[in-house]
Amino acid sequence: MNMRLKGMASDEKQTRLFGTNGIRGVPNLDLTQDLCINIGLSISEVFRKNSTVAMARDTRKSGPFVFSLVSSGILSGGRNIVDIGILPTPALQLYCRDNKIPGVMITASHNPPQYNGIKVIDPDGTEASKETEMSIETVYRQGTYSRSEWHGTGTVWHEPDYYRTYADSVLGSAGLRNRHLKYNVVFDAGNGASYLTTPLMLQEAGVRLVTLNCNPDGRFSSRNSEPKPENLKDLRTVISAGGYDIGIAHDGDADRCVFFDENGNYADGNVILAIFARYLCHKGDTVVTPVSTSDALQDVCDEREIRLVRTVVGAPVVARTLRTVKGSLGGEENGGIIYPRHQYCRDGAMSAALMLSIMHDSGKSLSDLISEIPHYTTIKESVERKADWNVISSRLESASGIVKIDRTDGLKIFEKDGWALIRPSGTEPIIRIYTSSRISDVAERLLKKYRKIIAG
Ligand code: MG
Repeated sequence: MNMRLKGMASDEKQTRLFGTNGIRGVPNLDLTQDLCINIGLSISEVFRKNSTVAMARDTRKSGPFVFSLVSSGILSGGRNIVDIGILPTPALQLYCRDNKIPGVMITASHNPPQYNGIKVIDPDGTEASKETEMSIETVYRQGTYSRSEWHGTGTVWHEPDYYRTYADSVLGSAGLRNRHLKYNVVFDAGNGASYLTTPLMLQEAGVRLVTLNCNPDGRFSSRNSEPKPENLKDLRTVISAGGYDIGIAHDGDADRCVFFDENGNYADGNVILAIFARYLCHKGDTVVTPVSTSDALQDVCDEREIRLVRTVVGAPVVARTLRTVKGSLGGEENGGIIYPRHQYCRDGAMSAALMLSIMHDSGKSLSDLISEIPHYTTIKESVERKADWNVISSRLESASGIVKIDRTDGLKIFEKDGWALIRPSGTEPIIRIYTSSRISDVAERLLKKYRKIIAG
């Protein structure tokens, strides 16, 4: 018989716990011991039909601390835990999908090292749906979780070698097993969760590999964890010295992947997505991407008679839409690529393997592949939201020069030579502005124009 707990600490905030990417915060400040344990209990309650929950974490300093608290709650609730160790988020997602069990990833992705987070995975391997997250949050808020009696508490076992299974699965899905690729590759793990998996996958593909920042370091002392060009100076320096075919980097939990070409030029995520569509998709296929992606992808899809479906911004929505429409590729402009032939989630190692496969099969360098994609200038910026969104949106809708407005997510305002996407953040008092045009001056002009209208 279970004992039912009621009530919760009086100082807990009533803001939503789950943001775009699970629960994020600073351990011992936001992610308190009580919160982590009680979220673990709530996860155990919501997944009470499952006997086991899979867990993994990234390399963050606070990882063991947060992991042990969340797992403590899950065990107290009566679920068992399989601990697959320090691994990328997509590795945990693969484990969940293949074993049809829910998962919990302890990570704050690309956030600074003081943060950590709790990300829930559904038993099909996708990031938890909003319904799952709301169920967990409701149980947590109402305290309607239950603690097992002593003989019903869960047990823990470890699968320390799963990194091999994951790396091999990526290789197989990219058709790279026993290919012996003759490329010189530089890989930067940024001290994060991919420090074992991506180097293993690349070595198994046969490349000559130089690694950077592949020591697991939870302080991210070598570089900022977000794989933006300004954070990847080491990688650029190495590849610019010459002799390499490609540079590859992930974020902290390795669901995103970015590239440098053989000349040391950073490859924009919009362009990478368009290259993947051009070489991995065929006439009649469907590609799914948020409204924020540049029209380079649209141009490639039009040329190849590939259907392009646009969604709201957010990888979970792209993944679920891909499954619904039986699409063959999905992705975002930030280096998050979803390849359903492997699994329905962003997967950094999978992106790296696919790019090498495309280079090998086409016989083209990465700079050649980039040069085939129509050039667009896309700018992304966040500004403070000083008024209600309804007030701001009506000001935007009455701006001059508007040809068309798409309301899929916020307002996507098309003008003659480009567009501006303006959407309020769901978690912070900010407005995100994206502008895109084939003419760089137009993208700049649109940014200035709509930034001014937003400011009032
Ligand atoms: Mg990430």
